[in-house]
Amino acid sequence: FSVPTPVNEPVKEYRTGSPERAAVKQALADFRSTQTDIPMYIGSQEVRTEQKIRIAPPHDHQHTLGYFHEGNAQHVDLAIEAALEAKEAWASMQWEHRASIFLKAADLIAGPYRAQINAATMLGQSKNAYQAEIDSACELIDFLRFNVHFMTEIYQQQPNSAPGVWNRQEYRPLEGFVFALTPFNFTAIAGNLPTAPAMTGNTVIWKPAYTQVLSANVIMKVLKEAGLPDGVINLIYVDGPIAGDRIFSHPDFGGIHFTGSTKVFQEIWRTIGENIHKYKSYPRIVGETGGKDFVVVHESANAEEVATALVRGAFEYQGQKCSAASRAYIPSTVWPSVEEKLRADLAEIKMGGTEDFGNFVNAVIDERAFDKITAYIDEAKKSDAAEVIIGGNYDKTKGYFIEPTILLVKDPSYRTMCEEIFGPVLSVYMYEPSAYEDILLVVNQTSPYALTGSIFAKDRYVIESTTRKLSNAAGNFYINDKPTGAVVGQQPFGGARASGTNDKAGSLLNLLRWVSARTIKETF
Ligand code: GLU
Repeated sequence: FSVPTPVNEPVKEYRTGSPERAAVKQALADFRSTQTDIPMYIGSQEVRTEQKIRIAPPHDHQHTLGYFHEGNAQHVDLAIEAALEAKEAWASMQWEHRASIFLKAADLIAGPYRAQINAATMLGQSKNAYQAEIDSACELIDFLRFNVHFMTEIYQQQPNSAPGVWNRQEYRPLEGFVFALTPFNFTAIAGNLPTAPAMTGNTVIWKPAYTQVLSANVIMKVLKEAGLPDGVINLIYVDGPIAGDRIFSHPDFGGIHFTGSTKVFQEIWRTIGENIHKYKSYPRIVGETGGKDFVVVHESANAEEVATALVRGAFEYQGQKCSAASRAYIPSTVWPSVEEKLRADLAEIKMGGTEDFGNFVNAVIDERAFDKITAYIDEAKKSDAAEVIIGGNYDKTKGYFIEPTILLVKDPSYRTMCEEIFGPVLSVYMYEPSAYEDILLVVNQTSPYALTGSIFAKDRYVIESTTRKLSNAAGNFYINDKPTGAVVGQQPFGGARASGTNDKAGSLLNLLRWVSARTIKETF
């Protein structure tokens, strides 16, 4: 068990004139000038179909970056077959050899593929260079390296023995195959969901979001180059319900690793329940499904720190993080200073496409997201319960751009304080300092989610009691920090309630879901 504890991959800064800036610019230009043709990967085959779907940058939707090949139910069946065929050899491979593939993949991303995977994320998902770097480079590398380490920790857990009795525990993969259904907003999550189960010997069918295909393809190329055998991860582009129909009715369905909406996850759970009699084992159901993440400010807080955290927490990557700060509760004594700094900071922020490295805010992912988010803004403009105090403009002519928008809300149970918007919209409720305890109840009760949350305060009694009273309101709780940006190996990530099964991505707890232990007792 010689895998050393990894350290987090350092974040590169992409300063003007730096070699990493030059490399990523070149990679962006390459993607812009080539029409990338993206196949599915099933078993040993690259599969191309008649059904080609266009890929465009969300910030420049008239430009064509290439096409990907969409499959149908038959391709899902082929992927299931390929996964099952690859299973025995992969599951019985010594763990060191499986580990070596993922460690090499991490090194390939850290080195020769770093610019390419970042450029794919910047163009395909409209991230700025920093947001791409912390995601498709650092976090993905960390997931691969740390998960290998956690895997070895699991294998070391052995039961006690006694004279004449030798007990051991064998950590087998799940029976059957695993389905990874992945989101657009983090390339790292898209990479983690299929690779975490694969590490412990599972074979996987991976279906990414159609808006993350450019970077998904780079991940697959890296894994192949690192030596991942055919059929271990099968990457398919198939409409969700069609894929689900084949996968969830299959007797060898062994588990799902999911990040996406609560609605889809609940639908999946229901379908799995309806099919439960068909499966060989009870499938593992692991899902991260969204949030309505809070920032609670106490009157002892530092207003500048609060404002900085809100700008970053609410508007980095256009608020398209499950962890994004989207509702803030601020005392009337602190709010004027927070507001002043928010206005000043947001006035400085530049909005625009990927190629200008000075931009902080880019486009949201697609037209559907744009329409959904702007509907919330429009409704707030008309409502007596809310007022748009900063931003509120939008334009989808060239790209799906929405200004960072702040709503001052009079009713803490107004829609935008309770529902996940998944865009650059922050709702603020101003309260009288004496009502602090009531606000904690409001935080707990007005949203069904429990993913992330922050408390800003200097008073230690307040910090302590708030941490305790909001115990069930967030799976990741931050003291005097923004509620985004969990680092693999440092802040295991996940929440409960409507936010998911809380199986903590990037931790031992997650890897444990992808093994099925066999206990062996031998007597002499
Ligand atoms: N892990 C990310 C963070 O801490 C959020 C992941 C997500 O959006 O699903 O910000």
